[in-house]
Amino acid sequence: MFEKILVANRGEIAVRIIRACKELNIRTVAVYSEADANSMHVQLADEAICIGKPAANESYLRIDRIISAAEIADVDAIHPGYGFLSENAHFADVCESCNIRFIGPNSRAMNSMEDKAVSRALAKKAGVPVPPGSDGVVDTEQDAVAAAKKIGYPVMIKAIAGGGGRGMRVAHNDISVVKGYHTSRMEAEKAFGNSGVYVEKFIENPHHVEFQILGDNRGHIIHLGERDCSIQRRNQKVIEESPSPLIDAKFKKLREKMGKAAVKIAEVANYTNAGTVEFIVDDQGNFYFLEMNKRIQVEHPITEEVTGIDLVRYQIMIAMGEPLRHSQSDIQFKGHAIECRINAEDPFDDFRPSPGRIEMYYQPGGRGVRVDTHAYAGYTIPSYYDSMIGKLITYGKDRREAMDKMTRALSEYMITGVKTTISFQQAILQDPNFRRGVYSTTFIEQFLSGARRELLEEKA
Ligand code: ADP
Ligand code: ADP
Ligand code: MG
Repeated sequence: MFEKILVANRGEIAVRIIRACKELNIRTVAVYSEADANSMHVQLADEAICIGKPAANESYLRIDRIISAAEIADVDAIHPGYGFLSENAHFADVCESCNIRFIGPNSRAMNSMEDKAVSRALAKKAGVPVPPGSDGVVDTEQDAVAAAKKIGYPVMIKAIAGGGGRGMRVAHNDISVVKGYHTSRMEAEKAFGNSGVYVEKFIENPHHVEFQILGDNRGHIIHLGERDCSIQRRNQKVIEESPSPLIDAKFKKLREKMGKAAVKIAEVANYTNAGTVEFIVDDQGNFYFLEMNKRIQVEHPITEEVTGIDLVRYQIMIAMGEPLRHSQSDIQFKGHAIECRINAEDPFDDFRPSPGRIEMYYQPGGRGVRVDTHAYAGYTIPSYYDSMIGKLITYGKDRREAMDKMTRALSEYMITGVKTTISFQQAILQDPNFRRGVYSTTFIEQFLSGARRELLEEKA
C-alpha cells in the first residue's frame, strides 16, 4: 500500500488526484511554482514544496527538482496528471530508477507509443485502420509534397510530438503543404522541443470519438466506453459527452467494434494503467485511429459518471499492483454525462486569455452537477499556464436531462474579475444542432461564423 504520493501537477487535476488520495488514506505532497503559492492544490495537500520560478520549464517540467522533492518528502509514488511530464517516458524511467512508482503506463508501453508516427505503425500492426499517410516523418518540403500528392488532398501536416491541438495544419494544394510543413515544424519545435512532422489524409467533417482504457499489470485490459469530443475550437476540446450521440443515432454497431479495436491496440502495446485511444469517425461510419493518450484525460469525469468507476482511484490501485476488479461484461453504462471546459478567456475577443484575480466566485450544485476546479474567490489566475480554470460536469438519465442540467448549472455559475467562456458554453447549449446531437468537429467554426454574421447584421 502506498503511504505517500507526490502530485507532479497543478490546477484542477492536482486537486482531483489529492482528493482520490485522501479517500484512500494516502498522504499527499504538492509541488508548486512561485506563481502557485496560493493555489488550491497547495492548500489541500498534506505537504507542499516549492520547485521554482513560474515558467513551467523552471518548475513543473524540471525532472531534477521534482525527484529531489520526492526524495526529501520520501514518497512511494508520483502521479503526473495530464500535460507537463505525464507522457514523458524519460521521467517515468527516472522515477522507477529512484525506486518511486510512476502512476501511469509501464515504460515499455510508453516507449512503444512514444510519438504519433510510431503509434500509427502500432495501430496498423494491431489491424486497426489509420488515415492514409506518410510512413513516418517527412524530412524535407519535397518529401512532404510527394507524400501529400500520393495521399490526395486535402491533407494534414502533423507534429509527431503534438498535443493540445498544436503543431497541425490543413493543406489543400502543394503550396499550402510547403507552408504548413514549415509552420507546423516551427510550432512543434517551440511547444514540444521536437520538430518532426508527418502527413496524414485530412478527413472532412469528422467526429472525434475516443475510448477509455484500463489495464492491469497482468495483461488484463478493458474499455470503459466512449466519449464524443467533437465540439472543438482549433482542434482543442471544448465540450465532451458520453455516450456519443453520433453512435447512438447512426452507428450503434460501431461501439462494440471500436471498443474492441481500442483494446486491441492497448494489447499490442502491452499497455497498463489508464489511457485513451482516440479515433476520428467520418459520416459514413468509417473510423480511423488518431493517437493514444498515455495518461488520465481532462474529460475523464464523464466516463466516471456513466460507469460509476473512479478512474484516478483505479490508476493508483493499478500502480500498487492490484488486478482489475472489473471484467468487460461488468462495465455497465447508465445515463448521460456532459462536460463543459470553463476557461479564463474572452469569447468576445478571439478567446484571448484573461488571467487575473477572481473577485466573486459562486459555483453551481444540486443533483447531477459536479464541478472539478481549483478556483475560488480571491484566487489570482497566473498567466503562465493553461487557461482552463474548471470543468462543469452534469449527469442525467438521458441526454436531454444532462443538457437541461448543464443549461441550468451554467446560468448559476458566477465568476467576476476575469473573463470566462461560460457565456460561450451557454450559447452552444442553446444551439438547435447541438441539442439534436448533430455536429462534427467543424461545429464551432460554423457556429462562430454564424454568430459573427448575426452581430454584424445587428450593428447594420
Ligand atoms: P485532453 O484534453 O484530451 O486530455 P489535450 O491534448 O487537450 O488532451 O491535453 C490536455 C492538457 O495537456 C492540455 O492542457 C494541454 O495544453 C496539455 N498538453 C497536451 N500535450 C502537451 C504537451 N506535449 N506538452 C505540454 N502540455 C501538453
Ligand atoms: P492532439 O495531440 O493535439 O490532441 P490529435 O491527433 O488527437 O492531436 O488531433 C486533435 C484533433 O485534430 C482531432 O480531434 C481532430 O479534430 C483534428 N484532426 C487530427 N487529425 C485529423 C485528420 N487526419 N483529419 C481531420 N481532423 C483531424
Ligand atoms: Mg488528441
